[in-house]
Amino acid sequence: MSNKLLIPLLIATIVSAVALVVYSVRSSLRHPSDKVSYPYVCKGCGAIFDVSELKKKPGMWRTPAGAPSDSVVTCIKCNKGWAFPVAKCEKCGTEYILYLCPVSRCPVCDLKAAAAAKKAGVDTVFKRPG
Ligand SMILES: [Zn+2]
Ligand SMILES: [Zn+2]
Repeated sequence: MSNKLLIPLLIATIVSAVALVVYSVRSSLRHPSDKVSYPYVCKGCGAIFDVSELKKKPGMWRTPAGAPSDSVVTCIKCNKGWAFPVAKCEKCGTEYILYLCPVSRCPVCDLKAAAAAKKAGVDTVFKRPG
């Protein structure tokens, strides 16, 4: 094979390899919710389930009337309690329940969040069972 043919072939190979990498990075960015996993806790029955369970079947994600956010759902276990999403603090690793009180931030790191929880009479720290 002469160099005249080899070089364009080499370029084409590199270009397609780069395109493939860019494509796979883009598609992983485009579907971040597919891999998202965080717990939900029901304030009615105390059930804990993963957000992925809500996405398994259409119609599972039901936002109750009057909910503070469309991330709050009707519990899939008892069908009447409100289930709240749980977030993890990037600083201290505390898992805390969102939307239970007006300030949905880490109650350990954020004094305002701690005060808001106290005022609302709720404990926003999420405790895993067991
Ligand atoms: Zn429940
Ligand atoms: Zn924290």
